[in-house]
Amino acid sequence: VLSEALLTRPDFADSQRSIARLALDVPVDSLFDFLAPGVTSEDVGRLALVPFGKRRCVGVILEVTNTSAVVEEKLRAIERVMLDVPALSPTDLALFRFCAEYYHHPIGQVVLSALPPALRAAKRSRLPGESWFRLTPAGRGLPAVDLAKRPLAQRRVFERLKMGSLAEGELVAGLPRAGDALRRLIERGWIEHTAPPTRGFARPSALPYKLSAEQREAVAQIRDALGRYQPFLLHGVTASGKTEVYLHAVEHALALGRQVLVLVPEINLTPQLEHLFAARFPDAHIVSLHSQLAQTPRLRAWLDAQTLRAHVVLGTRLALFAPLPKLGLIVVDEEQDPSFKQQEGLRYSARDMAVYRGKLADCPVVLVSATPSLESWYHSIQAPRQPSRYVPLLLSRRASALAVMPTMRLVDESQEQCIEGISKSLLDQLAIRLERGEQSLLFINRRGFSPALLCQQCAWMPECPHCSARLVFHKTDARLRCHHCGHQTRVPSHCGSCGSFDLAPAGQGTQRIESFVERQFATARVARVDRDSTRARGSAHRLFESARRGEIDILIGTQLLAKGHDFANLTLVGVLNADAAMFSADFRAPERLFAQLVQVAGRAGRAERAGEVLVQTRFPGHALYASVLTQDFARFASLQLEERRLSGMPPFSYLALLRVEAKTAGLAQRFAAQAQELGRRLMAGVSLFDAVPAPLQRKGGWERAQVLAQSKSRAAMRRFLTAWRPLLETTAPRAVRWVIDVDPLEV
Ligand SMILES: [Zn+2]
Ligand SMILES: [Zn+2]
Repeated sequence: VLSEALLTRPDFADSQRSIARLALDVPVDSLFDFLAPGVTSEDVGRLALVPFGKRRCVGVILEVTNTSAVVEEKLRAIERVMLDVPALSPTDLALFRFCAEYYHHPIGQVVLSALPPALRAAKRSRLPGESWFRLTPAGRGLPAVDLAKRPLAQRRVFERLKMGSLAEGELVAGLPRAGDALRRLIERGWIEHTAPPTRGFARPSALPYKLSAEQREAVAQIRDALGRYQPFLLHGVTASGKTEVYLHAVEHALALGRQVLVLVPEINLTPQLEHLFAARFPDAHIVSLHSQLAQTPRLRAWLDAQTLRAHVVLGTRLALFAPLPKLGLIVVDEEQDPSFKQQEGLRYSARDMAVYRGKLADCPVVLVSATPSLESWYHSIQAPRQPSRYVPLLLSRRASALAVMPTMRLVDESQEQCIEGISKSLLDQLAIRLERGEQSLLFINRRGFSPALLCQQCAWMPECPHCSARLVFHKTDARLRCHHCGHQTRVPSHCGSCGSFDLAPAGQGTQRIESFVERQFATARVARVDRDSTRARGSAHRLFESARRGEIDILIGTQLLAKGHDFANLTLVGVLNADAAMFSADFRAPERLFAQLVQVAGRAGRAERAGEVLVQTRFPGHALYASVLTQDFARFASLQLEERRLSGMPPFSYLALLRVEAKTAGLAQRFAAQAQELGRRLMAGVSLFDAVPAPLQRKGGWERAQVLAQSKSRAAMRRFLTAWRPLLETTAPRAVRWVIDVDPLEV
């Protein structure tokens, strides 16, 4: 009925002069002033349509004032305030402002990138879902004489709403011209959209799961913190029942009438978690938010959260920004996962911002992991009086008394014969599992058939023309692909250097392991799980489901396989090519390798059958593997923290990385060096490293350089970046792209 979703308030047009200051999706760190007759401070947080240059765009009103630094003649007027979408709340706006300030990113781009795409569009159709309406306070206080002057349809609609909120269908039933009446009443400010009445919760009468003493203690601590800000680090070995702990905490929050936000690292984990939540909380309305959702469901989920229809929001990092007026608990599962950090545009960490959001909402934040990030771990071992302290909640045992930790064994690749990268010991173990009818998992964090094609005569290897990287050989469709920029080409018939036809794949990827295993074990049912095999929507879920039903004997895959999936019949894990991470220059590489190994090992022996993990390495004596073998995270963390302390790396310092890109290496390097020089003059408590080429120097046709800034003090770093950024803005040549990455994950 409301065919025009965008509304104006004509009655206010002549009232006093006011200026709305809007956040717009523009790479400039300021708000934009517009004449906004009739707009009041109550409209802060609302979306509005404005003329901008030659186009019209959607912005968000952040301030309303009556003065502007812009001369009156140059001010343009707001076209429409969108009254059909609820305003963002002051805490939503506070989160955006903090994000903009912390990451030194333009406020308008922060706000607009958080909104669902359907709300950002200047042309928008009506909102999805059934609309509900109610009287506004102004409407309830309306003198009867004012109403008597209105046309009949408006009076009827108004009368119906006096009884309470109503769905649009009931409201307009049998009333001619009701749509028009609705719109006019909204314009007057007498009625407004509202959330449908929420269903109450029937508490599940008996929880299907008996908690251990450790789990009960953890639940009790979170429950006692409901209603105030308190970060927790829920650290438990794999299969210790961490999910069960936060499900109980969620239940307590819901019982208090609060909303819950649950963040997970992988889109692939959301359907599984959605089913789990739906089964446990049948009366709750659960929505998920992630980038693979189509526009309309994503908008509906957003609006459901904002209007209190949704009780639980599950999602990937972008769900962090979902408006939740009654937020009472935040859970960040696998908090150490790098995918919580966005790697383009606004480079925010959803984990870190979730902690800040908990502070704004006065609610507990539960970070969950078997291998916490060293930053979170460090916060959790600080003295109890430290303001940054995260309360540690430890689950030291596997939840099922029968499930024991898997045994770990290193296989020395230099001592054993390997065929196609798989050792004899591992092949023997695979055969035993097949015979027993148990499942095995082979983990290799490299997709494709082989990481390179190699000329047997001159050692030439095809490289990406746009990146400083080799092309990966994909045998299934006979292509060479760049995993950095997506460039692809046919497999060449001969060497590009000496012309020899003798080209052979070098090294193993998932496809090669898959075809070898299929040849080796002809009767085995083999499945590959990587980004290539799970590209189609829902295909990952189907693969995991069939593995769970026991329809697969040997799973081969990348880290997609390592997270969160339970296979009760899986008793063997083989880890191939683990050493690759040890050659990385990145100071976080050991932490990631440890996390990956523990995660993938955690897939084995989750039920009553003991699990075994074989890790193939050429460096069995390496200290990292010693701590992996005992799966002693505390020991690993204390060694790593000591190294970080000595080298002054996080959590003992704060980092920011200036990333520079240009079409020539000379230009990128020159600007990086110049930026470093400019920064050097500002330095107060911040050290700048020399400008250097990025680890992947050329990517997608861009030459890349970087400058690392390091400081012991977060405040000093913030002051430095605030001063440095404008200098870079004024001196950067047009041909240079640059960005400041605060708390970079890879340096
Ligand atoms: Zn490339
Ligand atoms: Zn050659």
